Amino acid sequence: MTASHTGGCRCGAIKFEASVDPFYTSYCHCGDCRRATGAPVAAFVGFLAEDVTFRGREASTYGEYPVKRSFCATCGAPIAYRDARIDDQIFFMLGAMDRPESYAPTVHGYVSEQLPFFQVDDALPRMERHTAPRPGDVS
Ligand SMILES: [Zn+2]
Ligand SMILES: [Zn+2]
Repeated sequence: MTASHTGGCRCGAIKFEASVDPFYTSYCHCGDCRRATGAPVAAFVGFLAEDVTFRGREASTYGEYPVKRSFCATCGAPIAYRDARIDDQIFFMLGAMDRPESYAPTVHGYVSEQLPFFQVDDALPRMERHTAPRPGDVS
């Protein structure tokens, strides 16, 4: 089976496609994701950057090193999260995927910053901080 995972922004100016299955799906409860998305929790689908192709307009970016978030300058939709420490990886917003129902998160990240009234009733692992390993992590 040939994997094909497509997505894009609201207005369609930016589209992307990944040729292999994602290696990662997560929720993130951190305050920075909250600001960036406006939602109580964010969710991400991670691919290796080399497996992803973009079409259409180039996404705008914003963020302080090492983090860069991309978005559509026309419709404002958030597209992806990248971290220069793991720059071979790209994490798309779950809601930017064409079939978001296909990417059930497998872990909750940054529950240390979770809003007290936002509770998800599942048995997934919960991490105090990030869930995608960075170089120099103490395990
Ligand atoms: Zn757009
Ligand atoms: Zn976050």
